[in-house]
Order: sequence, then structure tokens, then C-alpha cells
Amino acid sequence: MTPVSDASGMGGVPRVGPGEPAAADVAERLAALVRIPTVTPPPGPHPPEVAATFGAQRAALDILYPRVMAHEPEQVGRAGLLLRIPGASAERPVVLMAHQDVVPVPEDWAGEGWEHEPFAGVIQDGWVFGRGTLDDKGALVVMMDALESLLTEGWAPPQDVWVLMGADEESYGDCAVQAAALLAERGVEPWMILDEGGAVTLGAIAGLEGEAAVIGVSEKGIASVTLTVDALGGHASTPPRESAPGILARALRRIETHPHPASVNDVTIEMLEAAGPRITGAMGAVLRRARALRPVLARAMPRLSPEMAAMVRTTTAITQLSGSVGHNVLATRATAMLNIRVAAGSSVDEAVEHIRRVVGDPRVGFALVEASEPSPVSPRGDDPRWALLNEAIASSYPEALTVPYVMLAASDARHLAHLGPAYRFAPLRMDSQQRAAVHGPNEKVEVASLGQGVVFYRALLQGL
Ligand SMILES: [Zn+2]
Repeated sequence: MTPVSDASGMGGVPRVGPGEPAAADVAERLAALVRIPTVTPPPGPHPPEVAATFGAQRAALDILYPRVMAHEPEQVGRAGLLLRIPGASAERPVVLMAHQDVVPVPEDWAGEGWEHEPFAGVIQDGWVFGRGTLDDKGALVVMMDALESLLTEGWAPPQDVWVLMGADEESYGDCAVQAAALLAERGVEPWMILDEGGAVTLGAIAGLEGEAAVIGVSEKGIASVTLTVDALGGHASTPPRESAPGILARALRRIETHPHPASVNDVTIEMLEAAGPRITGAMGAVLRRARALRPVLARAMPRLSPEMAAMVRTTTAITQLSGSVGHNVLATRATAMLNIRVAAGSSVDEAVEHIRRVVGDPRVGFALVEASEPSPVSPRGDDPRWALLNEAIASSYPEALTVPYVMLAASDARHLAHLGPAYRFAPLRMDSQQRAAVHGPNEKVEVASLGQGVVFYRALLQGL
């Protein structure tokens, strides 16, 4: 794929006029951004071709959203953009976030099952196809369309609106780290932060008919831990009774057979209780009494599916292994990488301590490679932020049931969550097939849903 070197291809995309933009126009603008393959590279300075691609996207944003981009975006991190639309008051600022970068696609994308070329930005039969349509350019476009259309109408925000468009969410998120530092330095205490994460889902909650708008009110922590076992090595013809890989294998086996303790947190209880009345039969009856059945659920949920298990406990995935350099050489060192997702309410220390205890072998060394704690849980119930989110959902997806959840994956919001209450929700409809396509083949979004997404952001902004 050749990166676009300028934004001359944007000429045919209509700009936003007064009033709500037509969903078809929003789709065209999304397709234009999908055609710029902003694949995020690993940490480090951008190679020239990557810098050119992100530069092209910046130029496209300038053309598509001139009124928003007139607010002098400053660069944060490698290609992140942070801007402020001044409000009548700076007392309760909001931070709206969406990231510009996407994950790569394999060279043989057709073999992976893509119906359309991933960076072609094809619009067909009411859908926009391509990498980034859901994660996260779709959300970026509806957020920008809402702002641009409101500014065109002469709307002045009652509160400061900050817009943060990270450029490396998929490779750790240093842009968001730097933006958080800048905001803190300037004394900005966000009243509300809104980023990707949840969505208007279909089929996400077993037994629930219709749409559920799931809003992430916290996200799990992450820790990467290396396990190392050292040994003497030597010739494979005279192996010792216990080898470095053998000792490591025993440790890994113990980790998998002794999972972290399960417990159902309050957010999950609220989610199940809210869904209960919409679910018929025995399942609905159980969920309506979720609070009383907490211990039963903690035992039952991990057996239902890996997702259910991840909802109720800290999880540990064994991701990378290494041993000897040759097939007839004994390993002098065996290593394994663990990717740990820390449950809300627990901590990185607690998670690592559990694993250390379970392994119980002084020959196994532990090193924490990187870590971020679970995010604070943002307010729900009768909190005005939660009410505002509910109103914006009611005006864009009137049939949807709004429920809180703890996000299992990670988002840029975790880097800002210490500054103010963060919510993770993209106002786009996603069925189970679409959710599987995030980071996978055939990522696509419905044109109609893009229109509804703009309605959501407009309602949210007007309700500030
Ligand atoms: Zn994302």
C-alpha cells in the first residue's frame, strides 16, 4: 500500500454544513481516512514513510474538519494531536478521545478472509469496509463530525472541550501519556473523559435481545512478567535430571492450574442486574438476583467462557517462550513471558505475588517488564456524567439498554484516568461478527450507525 503523500484526494468529500450531516457524507469522510494506512510502528522515532502517512492524515483532517482543526492542535508524542475548543467556562472540561492509528493487516489479506482490500475504503450496500472502520477511525470521524457541525452552526461550548487523537494506541500509547502530563501541568482536571472501549452491542450479553450500549467504567490493569530459569548447559547427550526448560515448564503448569481467585465486582453485578429484566427464563431470574448470588456466580462464570472468566478474575496468559539455541544444545537459560490482566479492585503487586506463591520455586526468577494498575471505577447511578451518557444514548439509539462494564482490553484512557472519571464507549453498533473483526479480517461499520454516532456526540456536547 502506497501512503498518500498529500490530501488532494479529499476534494470530492463534502464538508460538513449546518445541521446534522447526512450519514452517507460521514461514511465518505471515514472512507477517506481508511485509505490512509496509519499503521502504528513499534515504539521509537517514525521512519520517514510512516511520518509521511501520519502527515497525510493530519492534512486530511485539516481539510475535512477545518473548524475543529483551526484550534491549533499541538503535537503530542510521535503524531498525536491535542487541541482545545474554549468554552464559556473552564470549570468542568471534557476530554474526547479517539486514536488515529490502526493495526496492520497480513500481506495475504484476501487469504485471511477480507472481502475488500483493507485500505481501499470501500462503501457498499450500506457498509464502510476496511481497517480502522471500528477501531478507531469510525469513532474519530463521528466525534469530529459532531464538533464540526456544531461549530458550523455557531455553537459555543458551555465548557472547555479538549480533543485528543493519539497515534500509537496500538503500540502502547505514549501520545496519551504525554497528553496526560501536559493536561496535568496546565491544571486541567477533566470532569469527564470519553474514549473507545464499549459500543452499542448485539449479542454481547447472552440471552439479551436487542441492543445493549455497554460503557466501560474501568479497565483492567496490565503487567508483563518474564520468568527465567538458569542452568549449566552442556551437551544434549548427557542431560541433567532437571533442565532449565523442565523447571520452567513445571512453573507454567502450576500457573495454569492455579488461577487467580474469582470474585464478581460491583460493576459486573450492576451490568447483570440491568440486563436481567430483558432476559427471559431461568437465566433472567438468576441475573435479576445477581447481588444475592454473587458467590455462586463467581464459581459459575469462569466455566461458561474465557470472556466470563476474564470478567471475574485476574488472568494470566503465557505468551512467549525461549530455550536453547540449537536442537542438540542444552539450554543455559529458559524464559517465558506472562501477560497478566489485573482485575479492578486488585493490584499488579497482588497479581505477581499470587504467581510467585503458586510457582513456589526459588530457581525461577521473576522480572516485571511493564505494568499499569487497573483504572479507578468511574461513577454511575445518579451521577450527572452517567445521566448525560444515558441521555445521549437515548437520543441516538432509543432502543438500547445502557449498562456499565469493566473493559477487559486496554485503551488510551487508562493513561488519563487518574485525572478524572473516564468512560469507554464508541457510539457505533457492533454485532458479534463485527467485534471479532476488530484486529481481524473484514472490519466494517454500518453507514446508518455512523449517522447515529454523530447524533450521540452532538447530544452529549449540547448537554454539557
Ligand atoms: Zn482501538
